[in-house]
Amino acid sequence: MKVFFEEKHDYSGLKNIIGDTIERNRLLRLKNGDRVLLKPNLLTDKPLAISKHEMIKAVAEVFIEMGAHVDIADSPGNADSIDGIIRVAGLDSIPARYYFFDNENEKKYINSFPVAKRIEDYDVIVNLPRLKTHILTVMTMGVKNLYGFIPGRPKKSYHVSHPDPYSFSSMLLSLYRSVKTHLTILDGIIGMQGNGPNNGDPIETGFIAISRDPLALDIAVADYLNVKNFPLRNLSMEQGFRYPEIIGELPPPPAIDIPSGPLLRLPYVGRLRRVAFPRKPRYKRENCTGCMACVLNCPTRAISMVYGNILINYSRCIECYTCIEVCNFDALEVYNLNLKRRFE
Ligand code: SF4
Ligand code: SF4
Repeated sequence: MKVFFEEKHDYSGLKNIIGDTIERNRLLRLKNGDRVLLKPNLLTDKPLAISKHEMIKAVAEVFIEMGAHVDIADSPGNADSIDGIIRVAGLDSIPARYYFFDNENEKKYINSFPVAKRIEDYDVIVNLPRLKTHILTVMTMGVKNLYGFIPGRPKKSYHVSHPDPYSFSSMLLSLYRSVKTHLTILDGIIGMQGNGPNNGDPIETGFIAISRDPLALDIAVADYLNVKNFPLRNLSMEQGFRYPEIIGELPPPPAIDIPSGPLLRLPYVGRLRRVAFPRKPRYKRENCTGCMACVLNCPTRAISMVYGNILINYSRCIECYTCIEVCNFDALEVYNLNLKRRFE
């Protein structure tokens, strides 16, 4: 499977670059009137954590010019953020209809995954991730962006059943094999490093990547950035996934700050690690607004709000980091509990 790299350091001229790459390489053939769904990352209302307005708009215009009807949809991490997401992503000024997969009753099962039923209305699905680090899966790009096809609360249950990086990534591989997308366009112009996917820092990675296959794209990008400990890549290569063919050259990559921590993969070792070296969310009270997003999204109900402060019951915590992912105010961080105590 081919992955196309284009060096790009700003958000100008994207429509021409993306349109040319698609046409020159015949990546998609549309019929006039085809219905196209763009699936950006609309996790939250923090500008660095979601797809850029310029990228969504450029891709929408490419397909509108091809004669398609274009819709934009994703499921947000926190339904209370929807107004902010619309504003930050500038969705009202993109010439396409948008909506959110927020009704978990409107779903259909594909290989046991409860995905938004509306995706069956489309002839073509275009995946629009943004390059970010991720405290659980190390990186979030093409495959992790598919998780947004699962609306509402069911997303939480996968964190309970797959609490460590390798089992969660294994579940993502099953989702990737279940939900068919036709094209993935990764915004790697300005990505996120460090405490991603919501509270990290910007990094100019300086490229866009395009592929029909989101997993091929993820592997190619992780290798370009020298991200060795990427569970999705390691699992898929072990399972015989063929190494992608890279088209296009990029300059040497910047050094990206990857979330640290032991990534032990056997389930019993993972459990032992959680006992010996727990990595729990730690509360930064000074940043907390009391928005309740962490309380409402913790899959094991380990967090409660007491007199305006949150309390985390570590005995219930499975280290899924959903709370950190949905906190828009950098009020939670990963904390190596025992190691810190030993050296303090
Ligand atoms: S407290 Fe945070 S990391 Fe622990 S189970 Fe709840 S959401 Fe996951
Ligand atoms: S820790 Fe974050 S998500 Fe939780 S209540 Fe405070 S600001 Fe909201």
